[in-house]
Amino acid sequence: MISDNIDKAVEILNNNDLVAIPTETVYGLAGNIYCEEAVSKIFEIKNRPFFNPLIVHIHSIKQLDELTNYIPPKAQLLADAFWPGALTLVLKKNSKVPNIITAGKDTVAIRMPNHPTTLALLEQLNFPLAAPSANPFGCISPTKAIHVEEYFGNSLQMVLEGGDCKNGIESTIIGFESDMPVLYRLGAISIEDIEKAIGTVKIINTRENIAPDAPGMLEKHYAPLTSTYLESDIEAAIKSFSNKKIGLLLLSKKINNPQIVHQEILTEHGDLQEAATNLYAALHVLDKLNLDVIIAERLPDIGLGKSINDRLERATKK
Ligand code: AMP
Ligand code: MG
Repeated sequence: MISDNIDKAVEILNNNDLVAIPTETVYGLAGNIYCEEAVSKIFEIKNRPFFNPLIVHIHSIKQLDELTNYIPPKAQLLADAFWPGALTLVLKKNSKVPNIITAGKDTVAIRMPNHPTTLALLEQLNFPLAAPSANPFGCISPTKAIHVEEYFGNSLQMVLEGGDCKNGIESTIIGFESDMPVLYRLGAISIEDIEKAIGTVKIINTRENIAPDAPGMLEKHYAPLTSTYLESDIEAAIKSFSNKKIGLLLLSKKINNPQIVHQEILTEHGDLQEAATNLYAALHVLDKLNLDVIIAERLPDIGLGKSINDRLERATKK
């Protein structure tokens, strides 16, 4: 059921059950981090493998002390600069953080989301919330309450309504090696903005170093059911699919071609933030049209364009 009743959400979470929560990135499937029953249910409903660690959501920077005994200086700078916001920090966990949250790792991923409803909810709880994206494992992420309802309607007591997700793609994830920042996942805050705040960040090639314990880095992820391709030359790609029903996901300009059944434009004015906001909703629309193929346009490889290309590359992996 979709509802904006925060008190009801508090009650369900206190009863060790799950609530889908709005955030500025995507909707999350949330449960009490200290309750094994609730956390197991997150994995079960999503069909998420247990080796895939969860992000812990808190309502204040101070609450970090509940989860870790050590904050690297650059992690503190990042929290001060970007929280509440779409940045996840991976820090050494303390002994209170259950191993099921971290997939047995000695680090925990933490974020303070920038959404008034979810911050108000977190303030009323005596525990942080573990919340991966509220979609079946590997599928397109949800950016509207209705996406979550369509995925999990019967098996979920409540989707807390918070409107459309403003940032629209998952958080950027930064970890630390001997106090030095390392990018684990491209995301809603551009690497350029992060480097403005703390200087150079080590960027591991996320597609070549695919770590099985970092599924945000899994090769195939965020994927429509329809066969999807990422292309720079859209006209050439259309020619290669003659006699097929084609849908297009384009940055800003429509294409005039009778073979195209439907076109989704991400941003009329070439604004990459707007493109990120609209990305998953556009993929949801295209995936429901019974197309033979979706052709997505590769975006400029700067700022959020990099993060969107990263998601599209995983969405189109065969
Ligand atoms: P999701 O909540 O579905 O966006 O996925 C959360 C992502 O956070 C995972 O896929 C991992 O890539 C990352 N993550 C969570 N915990 C850790 C950790 N301790 N170390 C490294 N990456 C992590
Ligand atoms: Mg996810």
